[in-house]
Amino acid sequence: MNLHEYQGKTVLKSFGVAVQEGIVAESPEKAVDAAKLLKIQTGTGWWVVKAQIHAGGRGKGKIKGTEQRGVALAKSLEDVLSISTNILGNDLVTAQTGEKGKRVSKVLIAQDVYYPGESPTKEFYVSVLLDRAKGRNTIMYSTEGGMDIETVAHNTPHLIFKEEIDPKVGLRDFQCRKVAFNLGLTGEAFKQMTKFISALYKAYEATDSSMFEINPVLKTSDNKIIAVDSKVTLDNNSLFRHPDLLALRDVTEEDPTEVEAGENDLNYVKLDGNVGCMVNGAGLAMATMDIIKLSGGDPANFLDVGGTANAARVEQAFRIILKDKNVKAILVNIFGGIVRCDRVAQGIVDAYKNMGNITVPIIIRLQGTNAVEAKKIIDESGLKVYSAITLQEAADLVKKVVA
Ligand code: GDP
Ligand code: MN
Repeated sequence: MNLHEYQGKTVLKSFGVAVQEGIVAESPEKAVDAAKLLKIQTGTGWWVVKAQIHAGGRGKGKIKGTEQRGVALAKSLEDVLSISTNILGNDLVTAQTGEKGKRVSKVLIAQDVYYPGESPTKEFYVSVLLDRAKGRNTIMYSTEGGMDIETVAHNTPHLIFKEEIDPKVGLRDFQCRKVAFNLGLTGEAFKQMTKFISALYKAYEATDSSMFEINPVLKTSDNKIIAVDSKVTLDNNSLFRHPDLLALRDVTEEDPTEVEAGENDLNYVKLDGNVGCMVNGAGLAMATMDIIKLSGGDPANFLDVGGTANAARVEQAFRIILKDKNVKAILVNIFGGIVRCDRVAQGIVDAYKNMGNITVPIIIRLQGTNAVEAKKIIDESGLKVYSAITLQEAADLVKKVVA
């Protein structure tokens, strides 16, 4: 689950991470009120208006059909009003949203932190993530902040550093100092950076996150170190431990079909291919997607119907798969362990008849308890379905129908 920038910053702040202060607003008038309040709270004379969507690249992105950027500096309350008016209720197109863009329903009014002063400002990149290959949390950081990290990795890979954290001892003080040192900091900024890294890591661990990306982390002209942006990805499997974080979920940012699937306890992820999959168990789902690939097709989705593949669930699963207009065929691959294959087969036949509007070919492979009876039910149903026993047969059928 992803958080909006403003939510991420609130979480970070609660763990003692210094952030660019801001107030979120849903209308241009409220944006002006927020700017006034922020002036009282922080003394700021200028503000930045930041579109809140679950996508990066807002600073370079533009509101569809206009020249308005998704992050813009406001030097007066009039600017706050006009920029917020330009942004709110419209679609922001960035490198990460696709051409359609994303509707903006909130703006964050933030204090301007790039004010001139004694020493120049400097942008860094800092993220914390799980390196799955190494099985360790890792702090990734760079002197090249403010631009997207893929570009930095491509052009100047030697300017990206990594610090692995040993799970037995956690993040050590010397590691925080090493980060600050490698970023070329000295004096007060060095001290602030060590505090920043330590608090950031504490927040990452305590929230069971799978990624924090702060880009840019800013050294201000008076040597503060603050998070100007925040991208927080929480681990969905741990959300049950964090009802306060779960409450921050914004379903309008998610794929509507995925949300509907979740409400029906179906584990569904939409993909770009043309072969729909209905499977029980995540491992089998992965294997099934591999089979589809190997037979020349492309999976249209990942769908795990879980342990109870009865008629109602199968029907719900069909409905969800068929909402995707790219689907040219559906492969049902169910292993009957506790759930009996003949029950599943009957469920499929009932769902198929009940829906009455399935036009794409369906390939069914049921294996396990009562698989033979199941095949008979499918074969005798008179429906436009193909049944298979082995994975190879299923793969060959997929090849035949999508070719
Ligand atoms: P992103 O483009 O979606 O990653 O959004 P960011 O929050 O990273 O903001 C984009 C850019 O806006 C930053 O890299 C900064 O250069 C700029 N920016 C952000 N906050 C301020 C600010 O307080 N003052 C000024 N002048 N620029 C800012
Ligand atoms: Mn950013």
